[in-house]
This record gives sequence, structure tokens and C-alpha cells, in this order.
Amino acid sequence: MIPAPLALPAPDGYGDWLSRRCDEHLDRTRALVDEFRAMSGAAAASVLDAWNDVHVSLGNVFSAASLFANVHPDEPVRSQAEAAEQDAHRLLTDLSLDRGVYEVLAAVDPEPLDTVARRMLEKSLLDFRRSGVDRDDETRDRLRRLAERQTEVGQTFSKNIREGVRRLRVEPERLAGLPDDFVSGHPKGEDGLVELTTEYPDYVPVMTFADDRALREELLTAFLNRAWPQNDEVLHELLAIRRETAEVLGYPDWPSYDAEVKMIGTGPAIGEFIDRVAGVAADSAARDFAVLLDRVRRDRPEATGVDGIDKAYYSEVVRRERFDVDAQEVRRYFDFTKVRRGLLEVTGRLFGLDYVEAPDAVCWHEDVAAYDVLRDGVLLGRIYLDLHPRPGKYSHAAQFDLVTGVEGEQLPEGVLVCNFPTGLMEHDQVVTLFHEFGHLLHHVLGGHQRWARFSGVATEWDFVEAPSQLLEEWAWDHGVLATFATDTDGKPIPAALVQRMRTADEFGKGFQLRTQMFYAAVSYLFHRDVPADLTAAVGELQGRYDLFGHVPETHFQASFGHLGGYSSAYYTYAWSLVIAKDLFSAFDRDDLFGTEVAQRYRDRVLAPGGSADAAQLVSDFIGRPYGFDAFEAWLSS
Ligand SMILES: [Zn+2]
Repeated sequence: MIPAPLALPAPDGYGDWLSRRCDEHLDRTRALVDEFRAMSGAAAASVLDAWNDVHVSLGNVFSAASLFANVHPDEPVRSQAEAAEQDAHRLLTDLSLDRGVYEVLAAVDPEPLDTVARRMLEKSLLDFRRSGVDRDDETRDRLRRLAERQTEVGQTFSKNIREGVRRLRVEPERLAGLPDDFVSGHPKGEDGLVELTTEYPDYVPVMTFADDRALREELLTAFLNRAWPQNDEVLHELLAIRRETAEVLGYPDWPSYDAEVKMIGTGPAIGEFIDRVAGVAADSAARDFAVLLDRVRRDRPEATGVDGIDKAYYSEVVRRERFDVDAQEVRRYFDFTKVRRGLLEVTGRLFGLDYVEAPDAVCWHEDVAAYDVLRDGVLLGRIYLDLHPRPGKYSHAAQFDLVTGVEGEQLPEGVLVCNFPTGLMEHDQVVTLFHEFGHLLHHVLGGHQRWARFSGVATEWDFVEAPSQLLEEWAWDHGVLATFATDTDGKPIPAALVQRMRTADEFGKGFQLRTQMFYAAVSYLFHRDVPADLTAAVGELQGRYDLFGHVPETHFQASFGHLGGYSSAYYTYAWSLVIAKDLFSAFDRDDLFGTEVAQRYRDRVLAPGGSADAAQLVSDFIGRPYGFDAFEAWLSS
């Protein structure tokens, strides 16, 4: 039987609904755990089923709490959800240190189990050992306090960023160079000035188009000072907690602990990977940087380098002048409503899916749309698209779970949370939309596992971005774009323009990767060495990896939100990209709607979720182990 989607309340009914959803599942989890402790000696299959029930129940609290802490329009509901998330974390921490539970699981004889069940048992036991369950009481107490504090401090770090929006008021004439609809969307206030904020819908266009360098400098400086100084202290504590946790558990540092359960395997391998990518990207980066500097010097002959204030603006100038790509011309073809419809049509055709507007769905805000996902008429899951900014909402782009899928028990439901304009989109934003949708598809298509532990995107963390980065390729293909990217007269985007966009996009890929390696190095080395002076360390690493250098009087680390969730594993983006390029090499570039290969990919890589090692899924699909060749070829092309 196919489970029904979760019924959500009207927007003003969330206080009660969240209490029920979270409190009831927390109570249920506690009851299940009590029963579980008494299962010593029970048959392997029933022990694992009971353990799965615990996972499902606690997972339901995490999903609802984390989602609504980030998207609900009302602050009290967000705070309530945050509190529920903390309760769930506390329970998870207790559970992960519960010797009685561990002993029941450790006593299971794996012999009668099938491969996936055995994998689930092994992974669960590893989770337990990594939390220190087999240590003495005093050590476990210390680890529990560290875990609780890490959660609180991590939440404070994100909250400071979320609420750290800065505002500038500027003379309207300083918007010169910005698109007309941006200007008309920013009317003068009573003081005759226009308000700009550090949120993406303002920040990205200003950095890309504003002719006034001083304006870009002011906004960038404000952007890079969000949550500073308060987050420096928060970050110091977070890094110290992680280091101590790793040391107590017998690892040399946090990255070594963290990498153990990822594809990359060890801490030092992260450093080697960062330097390998930086090395491979060096020539391409230097070549394109020189082009940028030449162009800056035509305007300012005294310039000795290119900085972050000029990076996006002059990249855009070079794209327009050298490759004849004018972002304002491009965006005429990307009306939000058409793009959203096109995304659904393209992915539906590719993966054999139908998206049907969910008639019974109630959404938490009028901007949100809900669809049922069907394959051959069978309901596979439900998705919610929450794609426009509003006050207090999560300010990046991400996929959140509403419900983790468990076959026969609960339907996978996921939410796309983005901050796109309601009118015309930049092409970059279209790419982001495809990217995030890749996570959503993985959640839904991979959400039909017997074991919640392996549902959806529950693969190794550093593989998670690969399916999304792969789907970005479709947002760069003319055959695909022509199906939905049309101007107001209905004329599709010309093939020659898409070709030029692609060439232009390739411009700067080397220096962009170097910037990514700067972020990855901050993430890795902050956790390995815990620098005393964070700003100085950022400056040093930016000098080593990023060609654009440090902007004076800024403190990037304070708003580098990924330090919270990714900790030392920001290298993940580049790691996944290496694999995504290899996955893409299996597709026919001249026919991206080829359904045979797309559906083989769907079945061999997405549908299994985390039920096998990602390296295995990839080689099941491409017919050999993954490698760097496709990535290096792309970078040097
Ligand atoms: Zn992603």
C-alpha cells in the first residue's frame, strides 16, 4: 500500500501542529528505545526492524523541526521549531551514547541478514563507536555535553548569519548599470534614498552590474561583515568543541574523525585533494585572471591586481565584450514561471516522472507550490517549491526534508528552499534551481528504502553534490533550454546565444575553482589547526589559494555558513564535481533527452539511496571506477 502524504495545517496552525508532530514523535522514540533495550537475544530481523522504527520516528522530528525553523513566516513558530530540533538532538545524543541499546545491536548475529540489512547493522554499529558509546561513564558524559553544546553553538552561528542582514541607503543615481527591473524594484524612500540589503537578490546584481565601484565596495564589505564580530567568538567555541570531541575519541583532529565515513576516507587526503585541484586549475586560473586584469587596466591603468570588488563586475564585462554575452539580454528568456514549468517538464521527461499539482496540499506561505511525483501513475513522493525570499527565511538555496521515505511506511517528501526573484531570473539562478532540484529528485527517487538509514540522499556526504552538479548540465544545453526559455514574444533562446553563454561560462572556471579551494582550505585548516586569529588565517589562505586576495576590514569567516553544517568538508563541492563530470561522460551530449541512459542513471545511482557505497553505484552506472580524467579534460579545454 502506498502511504498518504503528510497533512500540513493552515499557516496559522503550526504552533499546535509542530507540538504534535515533534512531541509525539519524541515520546514515541523514547518508548521505542525502552522496548529496544529489552530485545536482547531477539531474532536479527526483528531487532533491525525495531531499530529502524527508532530511526524513522526521530527522523520525523528532525525533518519537520529543521524545515520550519528555516521557512515558517512567523518568528515564534521558527523558535518553537528550533527548540524541537534541540530536543531531538539531545535525544539523539543520549541514544548514541546508550550502552544498553548498543549492546542489543552489537549482539545481533549478522549471519541470517541480507547484504543491505548487514550493511545497515555495520553502519549503525560504526555510528555508535564514533559517538564513544564504548567509553567509560565519565568520557561519555563529557562527549554528551560536547555534542549538546556543538548543536547550540552551531545554531547560534547560523542564526547570527540569518539575522545579520545589513542595509545601505544610497542615492538612486548610484544604481547606474543595474537592470531596469532592479531599479524599478527599488523605489526611493521618503529620504530620497534607495535601500539595498546584503541578501542575494540585491547583493548579486549590484556586484555584477553596478558601475559604481564604491557602491560595490560598500555592499561587499557589508556582506563580508555579516554576523561579525559576534560570530568570531561563536566560531572559536565551535572549533574548540569539535577538536576536543575528536581527541577524546582518539583521532588526531576533527577532519580525521569527520572524513572516516566519507568517500575521501582520511583527514590528510582532504589537504592533498585541495592542493591537487588547486594545481590542476593553476594554468587556467592564471590565463583568465590576466584577461580580467587587462580589462580592469583599461579603466584604471594604475591597477596592480583584481580584487573581490571587481571580480564579478569585470567578469561580466569580459563576458559581454569578448563573448558577446550580455546577462541582461540573457535574462529576458528566463521568466520565473516558465522556468519552473520547464524544469518540471524536462526532469519529468528525462526520468519518466509526472508532477501533478497536489490538490489537497496546504502550504505554509502563499509563495509555496506543492506537487505529487508519479511514475507510471504510481505516487512516488511529494515536493514543495518555496522559491522566493521573505523576511526571516533561510537565505541560501537548499533542499530540506519534510518526510524521509520508508517503503510501505511513509512517502518521501522534500522541499526546495531558494530565494529567486518572481520576475526575470539570471541564468546562474536557473542553474542553481536545476542543481537544488537534483537533491530533491535524489530524496524522492532514493526514498523507497526499507531502511531509513539509507533513504534518499543518505549516501556518503561528499557524494551528495554529484547528482545535483550533474543536473546542472541540462541547464546549459540549448535543446533543453529551447523547451522553456522564451522571451515575451514566445521566441526561444537562440542556439548561438547559448553557445556563447557556455563559452563565457567557461571563462574563469580555473580562478573560480581556486576560490573554491580557498573556502575548502578555510573549512579544513580551521578545523585541523584552530587558528588564534581567524581573520589573519583567512587572509593568509585567501592569499595562498584565491587569486583575488583579501578585502581589507572584512571577516568572511563570520558568515561562512557552511562551517556549521559541512565543518571540515567543504572540499565536497569540488570532490563531487570530479565525480559529476565523470557521470556526465556517460551521457550523449548531443541528446540530453536520451531516456535510456537517464533512466539507467535513475535506477543505478539515485534509486539505491545509501544502500551501497557511492563508489559502487557510480561504477555500476559508468561501468568502471570513477576517476579524474573527465574533470581534468574539462578544466584544460
Ligand atoms: Zn547542492
